[in-house]
Amino acid sequence: MREMFERIYTGSSEDYYKKLKKYVDKGTKKFILTANPEMLYIAKDNKVLKDAIMNKENDVVSDGIAIKKMAKYYGIDIKERIPGCDIANLLLNYGAKKKKSIYLFGAEEEVVKTLADLTKTKYKGLKLLGYTNGYIKDKEKEFEKVVKLNPDICLVALGIPMQEELIISGIKNAKKGIYVGVGGSFDVLSGTKKRAPKVFIKLNLEWLYRIFKEPKRLKRFYKYNIKFCQDVIKDSKKAKK
Ligand code: UDP
Repeated sequence: MREMFERIYTGSSEDYYKKLKKYVDKGTKKFILTANPEMLYIAKDNKVLKDAIMNKENDVVSDGIAIKKMAKYYGIDIKERIPGCDIANLLLNYGAKKKKSIYLFGAEEEVVKTLADLTKTKYKGLKLLGYTNGYIKDKEKEFEKVVKLNPDICLVALGIPMQEELIISGIKNAKKGIYVGVGGSFDVLSGTKKRAPKVFIKLNLEWLYRIFKEPKRLKRFYKYNIKFCQDVIKDSKKAKK
C-alpha cells in the first residue's frame, strides 16, 4: 500500500491547478488518477489499475479526506485533497477560455447530454467533439474512436475502476490530451445532482453528505473505506516492527 501512497501528489490544490492549466496550454498528454479509498483498495488486486497508479508518467491526486488522513500513517503529509469534480470543473472552464476541444464519456444519456449542451452556454468556447453515455455495450471499441478524435480534454465518468480501465485501454494510442476519470461529476456538473453544501466540503464531510443523500452508498462505504483504513493501519504497523 505504501508505494501507492508515495505516488500521490502532496502539494497544494492551487499549485496543482496551475500545473493542470499548463498541461492544457501545452497540449500535454496526461492521465490523471483521482485516488480515493475505493481506488487504492481495488488496485491491490487489480494489476492494470495498480500499474497505472505506479506509472510515473501519470498524475495521482488525493480525492478524499481518508487518503490524506491515512497517508499520515506512512509519514506522508498530503496538503489537501483535490476532488475529481473540481478537476472536471477547472478543465471545463479553463478549456472554454482557451478554446480547447473536449469529449465527454459516461453517465446516463440525459446527464451527459445536458452537460454537453452546456458547452454552448456556460462553457462557451469549448469545442465539443462528441459525447457518449456510459451504458453502451462495447465501451472499448467506442473509446478507440474517441481517442482518434484527438481531444485536448477527455472526461470519463463511469466510476472506479471502469473509467480508469477504459482510459488505460485507449490512451496508449493518444497523441495528446488530458484524460481523467471523474466518477459522479457529470451528475453534479450537469445540475442533475446537487454537490454537498460548501460547509460540508470545507469540513471534509462531503462523503457523509453523499451517504445521507444516497443511503445505498453505505454498503460501498463500508466495503471500501472502513476496510481500507483498517488495512492501512495494519500495514503501516507491520512496516514499523
Ligand atoms: N456509470 C456509467 N456506467 C456504468 C456505471 C456507472 O456511466 O455502467 C456512471 C453513473 O451514471 C455515474 C458515474 O458513473 O454518473 C459513477 O458515479 P458514482 O457517484 O458512483 O462515482 P463516485 O463519484 O462515487 O466515484
